[in-house]
Amino acid sequence: MQKITVLSGGVGGATFLQGLLHGIAAGSLPGVAAEAEVTVVANTADDIWLHGLKVCPDLDTVMYTLGEGIDAERGWGRSEETWSAKEELERYGVEPTWFGLGDRDIATHLVRTQMLEAGYPLSEVTQALCRRWSSAPSWGGVTLLPMSDDRVETHVAIADAQAPSGKRVVHFQEYWVRLHAEVPAEALVFVGLAESTPGPGVLAAIAEADLVIVPPSNPVVSIGTIVGVPGIRDALRSTAAPVVGLSPIVGDTHVRGMAHQMLTCIDVEVSAAGVARHYGARAQGGILDGWLVDERDAHHVAAVEAAGVACAAVPLMMVDPAATAVMAAEAIRLVRPS
Ligand code: GDP
Ligand code: CA
Repeated sequence: MQKITVLSGGVGGATFLQGLLHGIAAGSLPGVAAEAEVTVVANTADDIWLHGLKVCPDLDTVMYTLGEGIDAERGWGRSEETWSAKEELERYGVEPTWFGLGDRDIATHLVRTQMLEAGYPLSEVTQALCRRWSSAPSWGGVTLLPMSDDRVETHVAIADAQAPSGKRVVHFQEYWVRLHAEVPAEALVFVGLAESTPGPGVLAAIAEADLVIVPPSNPVVSIGTIVGVPGIRDALRSTAAPVVGLSPIVGDTHVRGMAHQMLTCIDVEVSAAGVARHYGARAQGGILDGWLVDERDAHHVAAVEAAGVACAAVPLMMVDPAATAVMAAEAIRLVRPS
């Protein structure tokens, strides 16, 4: 296999990519060439304008992780970060104050915003930003593509007793970063998604791949939005490559993040089988040929198979790149038995 395409959110997707690249470099992935090329189609529905800056959290998490510039402990933002600009903005009383905009990170957003305002599409801006990071040995020749050049934003409707309608709609970042996903999400609104088009190279990366992987990213606000860009679901359904996913739900809840709340909001059962059914079998109009569940969820295997998706239960905790590489190898074995 020469061409692997991975759909990705932020931390879950980036952590999986580290393991995949580890496996490729180590030659431990069955049938995968040492010079295999990895293309990442990243979610951009988390994007937000803050203080006049365009912030792309998932693109940046992947970029900083693969470029070794990530704060590994937090899982997002730059390493050795300082927060002077954020503190100064707070002293001016400028809202919002809840988003973690570090000084080093701001440099990325300044470059991005300047280029966007000069007329470059997000895909070209991303390519330019990646030029700096792609010399890191850990980058592994990855091509990072935004799912779309169009503005798409996930918004969340929450109950608000003070609002005349009893409801308020907040940006997904406000729901997650400020409200910690602690208030029930009543509805999700994917602003701009239905009118968006896939970014340059995205459909080709899926159509021409030898393997497509859906990593353990959030099934609703990461993978759900990528697949929701008109054209991407059809590309996943029609590619000659097998499509294999790994469950972000382990033991009937998320490992980290807020997938539980998001799945509940769209009435999908919060389990490894529930997510597999939600994605659906390719043979039946869905996007999956195979689905890995954690060993704790072995009792869900039969239900996933009954939905028409090949399934196996293996350890799915991404504790380090070597362990994650084993997950990637198992995923490949599931859809490309040797
Ligand atoms: P985000 O954009 O930063 O929220 O990251 P993603 O959407 O890419 O991934 C978030 C998902 O990754 C969550 O639903 C987590 O449950 C899942 N996740 C995080 N760590 C692990 C892990 O070690 N194993 C598995 N199976 N899932 C994980
Ligand atoms: Ca995200």
